[in-house]
Amino acid sequence: MRLLSIAALAVLAAAPPARAAVNVMTATEDLADLTRQVGGDRVKVESIARGYQDPHFVEAKPSFILKLAKADLLVVIGRELEIGWLPPLIQQSRNAKIQVGADGYLDASLTAKILEIPTGQITRAMGDVHPQGNPHYWLDPGNGRRIAKAIADKLSRMAPADAATFASRYADFDRRLAEAEKRWDATMTPYKGLKVVTYHRSWANFVDRFGLDVIGYVEPRPGIPPSPGHTIDLIGEMKRQNVKILIVEPYFDLKTPQSIGRETGAKVVVMPPSVGGEKEITDYISLFDYDLNLLVAAIKETGAK
Ligand SMILES: [Zn+2]
Repeated sequence: MRLLSIAALAVLAAAPPARAAVNVMTATEDLADLTRQVGGDRVKVESIARGYQDPHFVEAKPSFILKLAKADLLVVIGRELEIGWLPPLIQQSRNAKIQVGADGYLDASLTAKILEIPTGQITRAMGDVHPQGNPHYWLDPGNGRRIAKAIADKLSRMAPADAATFASRYADFDRRLAEAEKRWDATMTPYKGLKVVTYHRSWANFVDRFGLDVIGYVEPRPGIPPSPGHTIDLIGEMKRQNVKILIVEPYFDLKTPQSIGRETGAKVVVMPPSVGGEKEITDYISLFDYDLNLLVAAIKETGAK
């Protein structure tokens, strides 16, 4: 017994000292999951926004200032998605490591495929909350892969001793995502070109990836609430084009979508755009499983084609 204890102690003494995990804060739960996928137990991750919140309008709780003060790395969506709530938290954290442009600040949009980049001058004064292109780009699995790669590369530079772990975890995620994409493509192939309407312009990358066609939006412009005139025009267009699917993000009021649904016979599909948007959506891959299942069930129910 005594001998065994000594042997156990010897093993403990020989083990390398435990390295601290990289302390990561992310703007959204999608980024938190992608960080976990590649970081495993070599990272400690927390998201500021919850997956059921509108990512443009998150309450900047002071409790996050303290958490940001201790962070080694902050991963953001960028493209001004978080401009309404994140900058004051970053500033007040007084953490030099995670200030914009510092080594511990990672803008995930820099390596992603960004759609709807305005060609003319767009300012937020016009009310458009997408002045630098569509910031909901994580809804294309190709971008999920690019974000995961950018995070893995950043973590490897910050914690070189764990670089091999990050590389192999990224490779594993890449493989699982590719397998899932085959499944999703098979699911969606019959519905190529299906016309839909969405509340907000959250789904540009999603419809681009899965071959759907968005013919209109409940919001007149991103971030601008529906107006009676715009709603009447939209109903007319949906009737003309026989649109039977209306996708709504869970944080919008259902009153206008439901009245549009009654007028047009379209089904209102409340579809979460983020990890954590529903309790079943526990990670990046299950987000697409959940949404595509929901969408296909609605398409079948309405007989839309
Ligand atoms: Zn948006």
